[in-house]
Amino acid sequence: MNQTPTIAIIGGGAAGLATAIFAAQSANKSRRILLLDGAKTLGAKILVSGGGRCNVTHDAVIPEDFNGSRTVIRNILAAFPASAAVDWLASLGGELKREETGKLFPVANTARAVLSALLHRCTELGIEILLNTRVTAISASTESDPHFKIQHETGIISATRVIMATGGRSLPRSGSDGQGWEIAHKLGHTITPTYAALVPLVLADKMFHASVSGIAMDVQLQTFANNRLIDRRRGSLLWTHFGISGPVVMDASRHWVIAHESNAQARIECNLLPGENFETIEKWLVDLATTRAKSSIASAIADRMPERVAKAIISHADVDPATICGQLSRAGRRQLVASLTSLPLPILNHRGWNYAEVTAGGIPLDEINYRTMESRKIPSLYLVGEMLDCDGRIGGFNFQWAWATGHLAGKAAGAPPP
Ligand SMILES: Cc1cc2nc3c(=O)[nH]c(=O)nc-3n(C[C@H](O)[C@H](O)[C@H](O)COP(=O)(O)OP(=O)(O)OC[C@H]3O[C@@H](n4cnc5c(N)ncnc54)[C@H](O)[C@@H]3O)c2cc1C
Repeated sequence: MNQTPTIAIIGGGAAGLATAIFAAQSANKSRRILLLDGAKTLGAKILVSGGGRCNVTHDAVIPEDFNGSRTVIRNILAAFPASAAVDWLASLGGELKREETGKLFPVANTARAVLSALLHRCTELGIEILLNTRVTAISASTESDPHFKIQHETGIISATRVIMATGGRSLPRSGSDGQGWEIAHKLGHTITPTYAALVPLVLADKMFHASVSGIAMDVQLQTFANNRLIDRRRGSLLWTHFGISGPVVMDASRHWVIAHESNAQARIECNLLPGENFETIEKWLVDLATTRAKSSIASAIADRMPERVAKAIISHADVDPATICGQLSRAGRRQLVASLTSLPLPILNHRGWNYAEVTAGGIPLDEINYRTMESRKIPSLYLVGEMLDCDGRIGGFNFQWAWATGHLAGKAAGAPPP
């Protein structure tokens, strides 16, 4: 059995690669840094991220961009803020550019550039990468044997320090299917219930989504659990053939999914005229009856939203789109106002783990030391990335979490023992 002090990183996604690089940079040269991954190649999720361009971080990252224990998140981000991620990636050869939204992408405009920079640095640092090596169990070190035993499908590896970076359940074909949590649970960690997050939502066929598929528009969404408002946000919604997607839907989805899967009565209402409410829109329509008496209601509403959506929403409210503003009945007007400002979205479900970008839930942040990412349950075990109970909103925040946690764990695991 190899007795060279070994730091083993399980999982070679964004968090595992960052951990390996920081560990190798901090560690004594006699240490062996070993990265194990069950996949045939590394970086599947990096390559598909950001529409193939990899939104690596955001120019402004604050704890409020994340769901999870904010105090712990604040400390982790403070140790490796977005500016540190930008400098670090640039030092690897991955220069970034900022887009109008504040999202940062590689100048090369392709996720491959980010993955190549990370892998190149791993090679320079002599990090050993074992692919096709799916870990099935880990046993902790004991007083008589200070080595972890990492069991994989064809053998056992000993290590003095172990970092788990096995991700969550999103995009399972990338190799992240939740097995890491089972291993961590057997080691003594709690796993809070896990839910699909940043996931598109499927609507019932009675809705008009398919007829306006491909149209994006600014809306406000309000999510309720048992009639209690649990989330409110504004942003771009994309109508699709199956339902709804787009940044505002992705960000709201975790709240609906968690409520729905916790057996609460979950619903989302959509305001197609954000900033307006029932009263202001009703007044607008009443005024139109005199100011644009002869215009069709469809053309009046199409002044404020894409025409196809305007027609669809008018029909949805049981009003004939050809009705002229001066002849809209009171009942029709009130139905239309309700549909425009608080349209109930008939959500059947989320689109599934194959379409979820991230996982909500996981290992509670109070079970790690936020200065080092070391487990509070098992000394010399470290936990990083998506497997922790922290999920960011859309915009590069989840990669920022992977880099920041990997930075702390790598530096701590690579440091000589006290
Ligand atoms: C389609 C899509 C687009 C996204 N776009 C963005 C974006 O633009 N910006 C952003 O910030 N975030 C984005 N995300 C989220 C981001 O990709 C993840 O949050 C991040 O990659 C998580 O990194 P991780 O290293 O923790 O986990 P993962 O990337 O999931 O890596 C885990 C690794 O562990 C390996 N593994 C799992 N179990 C085992 C085991 N038992 N033994 C050995 N190996 C194992 C897996 O094979 C995998 O390689 C996107 C996600 C998806 C799915």
